[in-house]
Amino acid sequence: MRKPLIAGNWKMQNTVSETIELLNSLKRNLIDCNEVDVLVCPPYTSLSDANDTLTDAGISLGAQNIYWEEKGAFTGEISPVMLKDVGCTYAIIGHSERRQYFGETNETVNKRIRAALKADFTPIVCIGEVLSQREAGETLNVIGNQLKEGLAGFQKEDIGKMVIAYEPVWAIGTGKTATPEQAQEVHKFIRDWIKDNVSDDISKELRILYGGSVKPSNIKELIQQPDIDGGLVGGASLDAASFVDIVKNSL
Ligand code: PEP
Repeated sequence: MRKPLIAGNWKMQNTVSETIELLNSLKRNLIDCNEVDVLVCPPYTSLSDANDTLTDAGISLGAQNIYWEEKGAFTGEISPVMLKDVGCTYAIIGHSERRQYFGETNETVNKRIRAALKADFTPIVCIGEVLSQREAGETLNVIGNQLKEGLAGFQKEDIGKMVIAYEPVWAIGTGKTATPEQAQEVHKFIRDWIKDNVSDDISKELRILYGGSVKPSNIKELIQQPDIDGGLVGGASLDAASFVDIVKNSL
C-alpha cells in the first residue's frame, strides 16, 4: 500500500517570519494526520528557521532544487550537504519552472538526482508536457522521453527511492486542473513504463504525485484514481487552511 504524500512547493514566496507563521498554523492543524506524509518546500532563506519550527511536528522539509557538486565556485547554487545541514530530506528536481526559465534539461535533472540520492535525499522528479505537446498528441512520448533521459543509468534500487511528480505544465498556476481521467492516463503510463523498464515490484511501490492547480475541492477525485498517490501543490500550499484541507481530503 502506498502512503499518500502531499508536498507544498512554496516557490519564491514567504519571508522567514511568514514561514514561521504558516508552519505554526500547519502544525496546529495537522497534529493527528499520520496517515498522510506531509512535506513543505520553503525558499532557501527560510529553511533553517523552518527546520527549527518543525521539530517533532511530523512534517518533512524539502528543498526546491539541489546542485550536483559538493562545494566550490558555483555562485547561486546550493549543495546536498548544505541542505542536509538545515534539515531537508527531500529535493524537488526538474520542476517545469526550472526547465522553462533556468535552462534545466533531462541531463541536468539526471545529475541532480544522482547527487540527491548519494546524500540520502528523496528526489521528487518532476515531468510533464506543455500545452502545445498535449494538443499535438505528444504527451506520452514527451513523458516517456523525460523518464528515459532523466532516469538514465540508475539502478532499480535507486529508482525505488524516488518520487515522480506528473505536472502538466499547462495546469501549473493556471487554475486549469487536468481531469482525473487525463491525470490517471499519464500516471498509469508512468507506472507501466517503470514496470517495463525497471521492475514490477518497484512500479507497485513508486509514489507518483499529481501537480497542477491542486485545491481542496479537487484532490479527492484525483487521489481516488488508482495510480495517483498524492499531490505537489503550489499556490494552495501558501494558505494554511487550503493546505490542511488538501491533506485531510487526501485520506
Ligand atoms: C507546482 O508548483 O508544482 C504547482 C503544481 O503549482 P500550482 O499548484 O500553483 O499549480
